[in-house]
Amino acid sequence: MATLENRFSWSKSRHEKFEACLRQYYYQYYGSWGGWERDAPPEVRELYILKKLTNRHAWSGTAVHDAIRRILTLLRDGAEIDPERIVATVRASMRAQFRESREGAYRFRKAFGLREHEYAEEVSAEEWRASWELVESCLRAFFRSRWVDLARSLPREAWLPIDELGSFLYRGVPVFAAPDFAFRAGGGVVLVDWKTGKAREADRDQLLGYALYARATWDVPLERIQGRVVYLPELDEVEVVVDDASVADFERRMQDSIDRMRALLVDSERNLARIEDFPRTETSATCLHCAFRRPCLQQDGSAP
Ligand code: SF4
Repeated sequence: MATLENRFSWSKSRHEKFEACLRQYYYQYYGSWGGWERDAPPEVRELYILKKLTNRHAWSGTAVHDAIRRILTLLRDGAEIDPERIVATVRASMRAQFRESREGAYRFRKAFGLREHEYAEEVSAEEWRASWELVESCLRAFFRSRWVDLARSLPREAWLPIDELGSFLYRGVPVFAAPDFAFRAGGGVVLVDWKTGKAREADRDQLLGYALYARATWDVPLERIQGRVVYLPELDEVEVVVDDASVADFERRMQDSIDRMRALLVDSERNLARIEDFPRTETSATCLHCAFRRPCLQQDGSAP
């Protein structure tokens, strides 16, 4: 079987890792590469296992996104939705994931894992319960939102792929995007993103990235793209202005991020990196919950 090539690409999450800690970024995109292979060196395998872990906050967000994707798919297909049944199914699924993670199954096979279990972090029963309560309140808010009726009313031809990872080329660099909900309306496209955390400026950038993706993929001009971020469970909606100026500003920042990432590579053409070119952060708060803190400590021999 041909070996997978580690091609350089850009995404919002990659940019956030790069900004948080260069060493963490190195582990995530270079050091762990190939860790899925049976004959991977143990240190690469270890980084790969750690890279795949999530934390309880991201877990809640993913559970909400996955459930909304399934609900939207049912609505698109004209099926009835039963909110109580969906909430119960998500809860059962999260319970199963929790047990799987606590047992450490992710160390031996493809399985769900949480950093909290890997590092035996102290998390109270109330904190675990809060993770579920957030998911439940977000789903219940979604069920009573205007988006359910809107989705139900859309003709089949108006639907665009739901939360499906896609990419477009930006000056030769693949850029990844996965709009949560996109549909055609009024001769244009509406892009919607659900958020379960606090509002951040980066949320707007994410929508602007989706707008570039929509233009490249669905051949829609920027002035006909509407962007919305919906914060759950409050159902606060923020409109993201998509115009030449906002997109040009986003492109400038994305290009700057790409340039800085590539400048650290030992071979930019082949996307090759050396660990010594990616120093550890000096912000110890970033290390507190880092997935890679064990190997990072072992490699440098001092506490971050
Ligand atoms: S432990 Fe700290 S220094 Fe090491 S990779 Fe993680 S964030 Fe970076």
